Amino acid sequence: MIEIRSLKFGYPDTDFSLRIPDFHVGTQEKVAVIGPSGSGKTTLLNLVAGILVPEQGTVRCGGREVSALGDAARRDFRITRIGFVFQDFELLDYLNVLDNVLHPYRITRALKLTKEVHDRAGELLQQMGLGDKLTRGVERLSQGEKQRVAICRALLPSPQLVLADEATGNLDPRNKGHILDLLFDAVQAHESTLLAVTHDHELLPRFDRIVDFNDFLGADLA
Ligand code: ADP
Ligand code: MG
Repeated sequence: MIEIRSLKFGYPDTDFSLRIPDFHVGTQEKVAVIGPSGSGKTTLLNLVAGILVPEQGTVRCGGREVSALGDAARRDFRITRIGFVFQDFELLDYLNVLDNVLHPYRITRALKLTKEVHDRAGELLQQMGLGDKLTRGVERLSQGEKQRVAICRALLPSPQLVLADEATGNLDPRNKGHILDLLFDAVQAHESTLLAVTHDHELLPRFDRIVDFNDFLGADLA
């Protein structure tokens, strides 16, 4: 599902440099990414999603070379194929809970907002314990509630690939297990692949494989 080769990426005017010689994630694999803060975990997810473009090397995702697509094609690819749960949620404060979850459908023609999708959004929010807050503005939600809205928005289009950036970071322990169950169930049901950054070591046994960013630090490219 994900294939990265000889990747080099740096932000302009910074010393940070990410080098990944070789990184693969198989179809339907569930992979956890761990590593120190600032090591580039979020940067990696952004490269996989085509939000960032590498200086060198290739990023292939679902058989497409994301790093070679133009801006518009990369955006459509991301919205239709990838469910991204951002570390800072990236919810729209001026929209209510339901409209945040439906928003991807309103900004691209590549997704069709049907009655079925609308109903499924309601069901998903219900499962996440937000059934009574569909019309509430997201600025009036707790951090944990915002996170659950972000997860619902990512899952609604049944993406091939789910990228989750510390998706359980703001949840209390009781909620954490439950939300993770829902995330894993959705990934399983839609035969999606999961790449998740996490600091929760107790969650790691639930993944097929763990990738430690320490292994990329100081990596040389062939
Ligand atoms: P992690 O998610 O592992 O904590 P990040 O991928 O967010 O790490 O960041 C890696 C490094 O790149 C950090 O040093 C961070 O300060 C820097 N960085 C992240 N985003 C930007 C940006 N937009 N511009 C410049 N530097 C950035
Ligand atoms: Mg991060």
